[in-house]
Amino acid sequence: MRLLLGFACIASTIAVAFAIAMPAQPADPPKPAEVGSKTVLVIHGGAGVMSEAEMKAAGLTRQDFEAALAKALRAGYAALRTDGGNSTLAVEAAVRVLEDCELFNAGRGAAFTSDGRVELDASIMEGKMEGRGEGKRDPRKRAGAVAGVCHIKNPISAARAVMEMEGSQNVLLIGEGAELHALSEAVRAKYSIERVSNLAFWTDRRVKQIRDLHAKPTAPMKLGAATIPELKFGTVGAVALDTKKNLTAGTSTGGLTNKRPGRIGDAPIIGAGTYADDRACGVSCTGTGEVFIRHAVAHDVIARMLYAKLGVADSVRETMAAIPDEPGGVGGLIALDANGRHAFGMSKNLDGMYRGYANEKGEVFVGIFASEAETSVK
Ligand code: ASP
Repeated sequence: MRLLLGFACIASTIAVAFAIAMPAQPADPPKPAEVGSKTVLVIHGGAGVMSEAEMKAAGLTRQDFEAALAKALRAGYAALRTDGGNSTLAVEAAVRVLEDCELFNAGRGAAFTSDGRVELDASIMEGKMEGRGEGKRDPRKRAGAVAGVCHIKNPISAARAVMEMEGSQNVLLIGEGAELHALSEAVRAKYSIERVSNLAFWTDRRVKQIRDLHAKPTAPMKLGAATIPELKFGTVGAVALDTKKNLTAGTSTGGLTNKRPGRIGDAPIIGAGTYADDRACGVSCTGTGEVFIRHAVAHDVIARMLYAKLGVADSVRETMAAIPDEPGGVGGLIALDANGRHAFGMSKNLDGMYRGYANEKGEVFVGIFASEAETSVK
């Protein structure tokens, strides 16, 4: 900054010197039209959406989804703007709202495993890159994740607690070990982590879904709903950018409906479902986790920006195009770069993705269907 100010002073001194020595110059050219406000927070509530008819049959409306997305954006934005707020707190706050909302497949409202319980995964990553020396990674570049947890109300906070674990380089904790850490006295208090019974995640909609699936007399039960379009996805995620230009990305999920017990998808895998790098962008994915793991999708978006020098929109488009598609679509992602430009990516045969963003003024925009742009919510 001091350097920039120094340059600015020298430049203005030269400009003044020229103004004195040269004949009068024409007036300054008109300023380019004001560019749109910077995005500071992007969220998703899963790719593959219910049609309005399906919503109606389930006693829901699109306004229910829009209101839930707007609530998450406002919570994230508030965390970004409060004193001491930053991108990590914003991601955590937004994702916690989505985890607590039964419309989405994360936390309350999560999908069932094939043996009828809920196993949750989540991850978070910071993109800090103020490295010492050109190209060196910041030693503080941090990530944390939990997988297969059954009693933690907000897995995203447990993931953050792993990321911030003192004296440890651990990134991913699973099952009992993850719960042991998250539910220890000090961690619980610091991150507002609540222990709940697995039943607390069960919703009528998900119970009916798994019962119907198992009751189908003809079709053999398919483990993991990747190719069952009507089951959709539903993972939630967020990416935030703070005033220090630090990015954080986070993802939380119940995983694929009817997944095998112990099956872990992309959501807690750094590089697959979540990635952040302040030199490029932050990414959170939703979809058939196995495909996202095999193609390191979240990191692929960043790699295209870093190595092929693409902008965030082109990188998202190329990354999505490179993923092999499936009937019903493979999924989608959100990305936000360090300059406040965001992009949504969706498999081309998907009907939509629950999504939204907030700009630096705190204005909130949400969208559901692929055919529609995001609209402002007052
Ligand atoms: N990606 C998640 C998983 O494979 C599922 C989803 O996005 O809904 O576990």
